[in-house]
Amino acid sequence: MIEETLVLIKPDGVKRSLIGEIISRFEKAGMQIAGLKLIRPAEKQLNEHYLLSPEWVSGIAQKTREAFAKKGIEINETDLQIAQRVQGWLKDSLGSGFVIAMVLNGNCAIEVVRKLIGATEPRTAAAGTIRGDLSTDSYDLADLEKRSVGNLIHASSSLEEAKREIAIWFQKDVVYY
Ligand code: UDP
Ligand code: MG
Repeated sequence: MIEETLVLIKPDGVKRSLIGEIISRFEKAGMQIAGLKLIRPAEKQLNEHYLLSPEWVSGIAQKTREAFAKKGIEINETDLQIAQRVQGWLKDSLGSGFVIAMVLNGNCAIEVVRKLIGATEPRTAAAGTIRGDLSTDSYDLADLEKRSVGNLIHASSSLEEAKREIAIWFQKDVVYY
């Protein structure tokens, strides 16, 4: 099934001059570029991209509580407070520089692109994936430095997410094949 997905090369990837390397991997895998731009994200786009939906709030809070429980630390914050703190780090990171925004088009694009980028944490992302090959950041280092994990790329993880996210970053200037 031909799909479209949103990919962002985050500021860490742009600053490290990895734009060509990353785009080339998607192209070689058979994805077509249906939209592409280099932009400095606006506050509105950051808020919309990292939307505090009830599912995201409870998911991130649970993940954070579990990670801290493993270290024997109990968090005395509400789910919303935890999510807002993480959202602030994410916005700081994505807003820290220029971003490449792309719409990629191809067979099972959402699943294939997620496979190519690898797991969220570069330290444990498989070799052969973009995150696994090109970065090493880890949750523990990011927590210590009070920031989000630097993992070079964002990619939509479902059809609904792709539809919502493409509308945030591209108006009617996306060129579809
Ligand atoms: N992130 C983080 N700590 C976490 C989970 C996520 O810093 O415990 C950051 C990371 O940069 C990730 C982004 O938040 O890319 C969005 O999280 P998500 O779970 O959607 O991961 P992704 O879809 O990017 O793999
Ligand atoms: Mg995600």
